[in-house]
Amino acid sequence: MLRWFFVLAHRVAEKKEKRDITGEFRKLTETDHLSPEQVSNFQQARLFEMLDYARRKIPYYAKLFTEHGFDPAERSIVHFQKLPFLTKGIIRQLGSETFCNSEYPLAPRKTGGSTGPKMMVYYDPKGLDITAAAHRRCLRWAGKKTGEKEVHFSSDLGVPIHPIDARREYWKCFSLNRENILINIYDQDKLRAIHERLRRIKPVLVQGFPSMAYLLAQYAEKLPPGERARFRIYEATGETLYHFQRKKIEETFHCKVFDRWGNAEFGATAHECKKHSGLHIFSDLVYIESIKDEESGGMPELVVTGLTNRGMPLVRYRTGDLGDITWEPCGCGLPYPRIINLQGRIHDLIPLEEGKVMSTELLLDIMDRCGGMDDFQVAEIGDRIQIHVLPDRECTLEKLQDMQNRFVKLSQIRTKKLDIVTVPKLQLTSAGKFRYRTEPLQCDTLKVRLATEYGNICEQP
Ligand SMILES: [Zn+2]
Repeated sequence: MLRWFFVLAHRVAEKKEKRDITGEFRKLTETDHLSPEQVSNFQQARLFEMLDYARRKIPYYAKLFTEHGFDPAERSIVHFQKLPFLTKGIIRQLGSETFCNSEYPLAPRKTGGSTGPKMMVYYDPKGLDITAAAHRRCLRWAGKKTGEKEVHFSSDLGVPIHPIDARREYWKCFSLNRENILINIYDQDKLRAIHERLRRIKPVLVQGFPSMAYLLAQYAEKLPPGERARFRIYEATGETLYHFQRKKIEETFHCKVFDRWGNAEFGATAHECKKHSGLHIFSDLVYIESIKDEESGGMPELVVTGLTNRGMPLVRYRTGDLGDITWEPCGCGLPYPRIINLQGRIHDLIPLEEGKVMSTELLLDIMDRCGGMDDFQVAEIGDRIQIHVLPDRECTLEKLQDMQNRFVKLSQIRTKKLDIVTVPKLQLTSAGKFRYRTEPLQCDTLKVRLATEYGNICEQP
């Protein structure tokens, strides 16, 4: 009964906001019942339609297609796959507006923490409705009905939210029957509080970073089974889900774990079905390629072309996430190919003091607020935490100091010192992979630019 109240509340909210998520969701559900061949034809039609649109409306693409002799009217996948890749670096350099069609009222979204430095993405109203509908598709595949209670874990930056945004978020959560649990640092007290809250809320679904859910499972497994929080579904978002995390979360909370792949650039683009053997690609919304080249270090990188957002069409966009694609049919009967061996950027936990840890995802948010930095890594040396920062052209000493202040305030470190070090390049592991945790730099090799009460602002010469 209560569920129907929220189904109704959701419809009312949708009408009030003049959105048509339910209509778009119905279309997605219809595609779920097509044959693989029908989906493939539908996808190709949408792809060339979008490419033609991009050519007509966005001068950047008109020029690019002409330079490469590509004509969408030819409908040639081979020619399409010869177009150069688009990267976050190119978009950040030229500005997101270069890729936008301003005929539409555009809604901004900031890219999340799983793919490195942030940038703005813009959606036209229909594109936005489709991403919301795609999110609903994920929940349906996971077995959650509209109106059932859900909990989302997200970062708490300790920054006050504008009252209008806070009110909008409140009503959104109310109509979706959702509660947000905001987290900054983790220690036993925090985990106990989060766990207690989950027991009180009794959600059907919990969504958030697997590293966070894993920490919570480690806390809860020490409790007698009758005192553990229970929820039916856990949906992993934002970072790579490892098998050991999945196993621990499933066993501790007696839930089904579903992995989801998506980003702010395209919304949710792939999701596990009940067979849990890879993530089915939303082929009606995106065209995904898995490519290997020098830049990807010979690893299979996922490259996406969006098929629905006319506000900011992205063509052959490198996501930085790795995965293979299989067209083998799945036992669940869905008509979509699957991503297997998915590996996104890996977030790490930064050890602070007295057993407290903090996710590098939160640090990415801090860096984003301060500006002036492209990316970072974290290392520890003795009683010092080092943040290695890759500065951009607008980096100033003030911005670095701002980052230091914000980090110290949020992490509440007291005994450790925090050094911010600008470096010419970040380090990769011996396997050529990027990790946020890295090896420290010897302090005596660094040039101190400013000594503050929290530590030093340094430069690697
Ligand atoms: Zn399946």
